[in-house]
Amino acid sequence: MTTTAVPPTSTQLCGVFADVNAAVAAAREAFLAFSDCSLAQRRTFINAVREAASQQERLEYMATAAVEETGMGNAHHKVLKNLYAATRTPGVEDLVMEARQGDDGLTTLEYSPYGVIGAITPTTNPTETIICNTVGMLSAGNTVVFSPHPRARRLSAWLVDVLNRAMIEAGAPENLITLIAEPTPATTTALINHPDITMLVATGGPQIVNMVLSSGKKAIGAGSGNPPAVVDETADVAKAASDIVQGASFDNNLPCTAEKEVIVVAEVLPQLMTAMRVNGAQVVSDPEELAKLRSLLLDPSGVRPNTAWVGQDAQKILRAAGIKPNQGTRLVTMVTDPSDPFVQVEMLMPVVPVVPVTDYLTAIDLAVELEHGNRHTAIMHSKDVSRLDLMARRIQTTIFVKNGPSFAGIGINGEGFATFTIAGPTGEGLTSPRSFARRRRCVLDAR
Ligand code: NAD
Repeated sequence: MTTTAVPPTSTQLCGVFADVNAAVAAAREAFLAFSDCSLAQRRTFINAVREAASQQERLEYMATAAVEETGMGNAHHKVLKNLYAATRTPGVEDLVMEARQGDDGLTTLEYSPYGVIGAITPTTNPTETIICNTVGMLSAGNTVVFSPHPRARRLSAWLVDVLNRAMIEAGAPENLITLIAEPTPATTTALINHPDITMLVATGGPQIVNMVLSSGKKAIGAGSGNPPAVVDETADVAKAASDIVQGASFDNNLPCTAEKEVIVVAEVLPQLMTAMRVNGAQVVSDPEELAKLRSLLLDPSGVRPNTAWVGQDAQKILRAAGIKPNQGTRLVTMVTDPSDPFVQVEMLMPVVPVVPVTDYLTAIDLAVELEHGNRHTAIMHSKDVSRLDLMARRIQTTIFVKNGPSFAGIGINGEGFATFTIAGPTGEGLTSPRSFARRRRCVLDAR
């Protein structure tokens, strides 16, 4: 995909501030104005966001510009991710009031906003998260100050400008979303500690999740995962292989939900490897080639990813390691053991190992271990419903995909709404507007 040039609409970007205090003050003022808007107006503003973000020209621009600015990912897949964020993130309809009526009167449980949310967004889904959070957080009546990843700040500023302009054109107050133009650790700390920020939402790795959870404020932490995909001997192995290759190569394995390691019952290992090859996985088995791959992709510690190779294309990785890529290769794989760093650690690369085990119970136990208690995502391919049920109960992840590619779990070619903020650590799960709202009990005394 070639870059589609969609320049900023103006040099003065709407909602983009150099100073944290100014960004928060503008969003706070916008919150007061937004609180006077009707639900119908809120719906109109959200629709404006959806329309602005889902125009084809903009989708292509966001996808190519994200690859350019972050240096990671696959533009074709990013088009799809942004489209789903814009069109399938739930809106105002997610806030369903509960009512109880009796002899003593009527009690309603209503959703009410937190106020101004500080939302910290990742480099792996920079625009998807801003679109998804804007729809979800504004639907619940909040306004938002975004702190983007420094490696996605220009595109994030462009997007905040575009979304603000679309909402203003639809009659919204200015600055319903604002953004810190030059994010640094100091601006993030200032945002987290700002007295007018009443809720924090961090979508990213463990450091930022821990920072917001230690803030003493209401915080949602959407952290990292290490999703295992289990294949047992009852599975439709050809379909499992196709699903795994599609899911694990999606956006060069950047999604936190993407298959990060495969655990297979040894009896069907040969069939699985053959079917993975057919679907575009290149199996590296030569010890010298494996050594080259490891020295390229791991940092000097030998256990952590070399960040230069995160989110890179599979063929580019192979070439850099001196291995000739096959035509159509989109995933690299190797058969290995559970102690391998590629199995243990979230690599975010289209290099996904396969670990054979003796039986399905061992596979499930290993999957639980490798998920490291993130409570994020797991996948199982099996025709035995009781085994699917057993793994779901044992692993206790927020997303559990049965016989499908991992992206079905976030609503891409799967039933259910889309989200790009999956809160395992704090338990909200797949966030939607109600995750960003407080519950208020309103009591009418009938006596
Ligand atoms: P990251 O943790 O490096 O950055 C995320 C955000 O936090 C960025 O805005 C960054 O600037 C900020 N940040 C991180 N450490 C900071 C610090 N010490 N001080 C101030 N700000 C800090 O993560 P990333 O590389 O952008 O994204 C990838 C990670 O996020 C992966 O671990 C992935 O699994 C996770 N992720 C989770 C979800 C989810 O919904 N659960 C979604 C996307 C990404």
